[in-house]
Amino acid sequence: MCGIVAYLGKKPAQPILIEGLKRLEYRGYDSAGVALINPDKGGIRVIKSSGRISVLEELLSEPDPKEVVGIGHTRWATHGEPNTINAHPHLDYTGKIAIAHNGIIENYSTLKTWLITKGCKFVSETDTEVIANLIGYLYSNTDGEDAPRDGQNRFEWAVQHALNELVGTYGLAIVCTDFPDMLIGAKKGSPLIFGLGKNEYLIASDAAAIVEHTTQVIYLADNEMVTITPKGFHTKTIDNIEIHKELKQIEFSLSAIELDGFKHYMLKEIYEQPKALNMCLGGRLDMRDGRIVLGGISKYWREFTRAKRIVINACGTAWHAGLIGEYLIEQLARINTETHYASEFRYRNPIIEDDTVVIAISQSGETADTLAAVEQAKERGAVTLGIVNVVGSTIARTTDAGVYLRVGPEIGVASTKAFTAQVAVLAMLAIELGRRRHLSTEQVRFYIEELSKIPAKIEEVLSLSEHIKKIAEATCDRENWLFLGRGFNYPVALEGALKLKEISYIHAEGLPAAEMKHGPIALITKGMPAVFIATKCSQYEKIIGNIEEVRARGGRTIIVASQGDENIKQYADFLISVPDVPEELQPMVTVVPLQILAYHAAVLRGHDVDKPRNLAKSVTVE
Ligand code: GLU
Repeated sequence: MCGIVAYLGKKPAQPILIEGLKRLEYRGYDSAGVALINPDKGGIRVIKSSGRISVLEELLSEPDPKEVVGIGHTRWATHGEPNTINAHPHLDYTGKIAIAHNGIIENYSTLKTWLITKGCKFVSETDTEVIANLIGYLYSNTDGEDAPRDGQNRFEWAVQHALNELVGTYGLAIVCTDFPDMLIGAKKGSPLIFGLGKNEYLIASDAAAIVEHTTQVIYLADNEMVTITPKGFHTKTIDNIEIHKELKQIEFSLSAIELDGFKHYMLKEIYEQPKALNMCLGGRLDMRDGRIVLGGISKYWREFTRAKRIVINACGTAWHAGLIGEYLIEQLARINTETHYASEFRYRNPIIEDDTVVIAISQSGETADTLAAVEQAKERGAVTLGIVNVVGSTIARTTDAGVYLRVGPEIGVASTKAFTAQVAVLAMLAIELGRRRHLSTEQVRFYIEELSKIPAKIEEVLSLSEHIKKIAEATCDRENWLFLGRGFNYPVALEGALKLKEISYIHAEGLPAAEMKHGPIALITKGMPAVFIATKCSQYEKIIGNIEEVRARGGRTIIVASQGDENIKQYADFLISVPDVPEELQPMVTVVPLQILAYHAAVLRGHDVDKPRNLAKSVTVE
């Protein structure tokens, strides 16, 4: 998910790799490393460290002019803490192969078990080391039937055979001491480009890392690889079929590349949601057996299943996700659940009885109040579960059990993809708890199936961006807004209002729709925008009543409704139609138009979406 840079040429590789890695820093990372080869001498020199690239630089000696081949990596940990041992590049057990990897290998644990039986030693907790050892094992054990044919070199052969065994995603740069002037790149699911310079070649996960050296690139597609030597290169599929790839010219500026062509990180992350959710759900929905696999909870299912009370702690957007989790767990697992602001929970002398499980939700895993709430809960004897994005963060390390979001670094201050993934994790938790308690096999299968369709449904909502922009143009001059929803969409109303506040600085209030008449209705004036989430659900008729109340007082309605709902048109000044989803899973779809609406409103009002005033990405102070 983070960065790769690799070099083969005539110049010392070390400074080129370090500069390239610095170009990738904007993506967020937790550790970095390089592996260098001197083709005359062979042997690999690996230098890596946790923390910033500046820390890595302090460990480096003067560049060796003979080390003209190398691979570099910035890691964003998905498997194993962000420490030096887990940092890339990883060597195989023979010390001959070094690899830098972006992505996630889903079948790593099966492969690891098998490789251990074959005598391979592992030193890290990463999924990546499995790739290194598998290539290393195949490389060192090729003979008879399995031997490479037609003069193919054994290194390339071993890479292809290893890649064919992998389930998951990878962008890879690989070197081997026996072929010290050879560099291999391969890709599936994670980006990888190959750049051709003058007497030099580069591989990178992102053009930003190589554009200083060359603008001539080849974009590798999934299941493709490139093998490079000083004499030239060839591109093949991982099944060893030669392919011709067109050379492309990179034409955009560095800043544009870093944003992948998006104007802002927030927009990029909104659009990343289908992919991010696929990463989050990947390998966790077991359709065949009709169950959900959450490895980080496996030792604690007993406590969860028997819990009399579940207490969720979070702040801000994560608190809204928590509230949806509360509805989900109560509905699907029938366990009493409460969501607390962590800042309140920690100071209220909380009551934790036996059979209470405490969940903490935080994108960064460093939110000070949420961490303090976890510590309180642990002191009082609760089993704790962390739902965080950043691997190895303090909350991840402090809680007993954990589920990572796996959505990659979130850079935009206003959280988007982390929110939808937090809801997805809570949905998985609720379904699995329900399965273990009382849901029928049919019900479980139904929810798993529907959950797996959510990324595609979000994709459909993203195509409405231009339409939503027009709504923002017509309304964003108003200084006061209401966001209203009921049931599962009530927290979505809160989140929609928060997004608008955070980046467009418009005053917005989110409410359960029925609460409006207990006070806030007094605010409604002619033309005041009121956003309703009024999709088909058990409270549909009720929310229509609330919409009428607003219209009767001159409010202007922006309605998020289910596709094909003809009836609702008469109530809407502006209509946003989203695909149909079972009520319990709707928030992941209905929140997306509200993120887009807030984004366009902020841009139209001339604000810096990625650096909203007074806000910080990770709130590490109470
Ligand atoms: N899954 C790998 C790890 O945790 C690679 C992470 C990345 O893409 O940076 O080490």
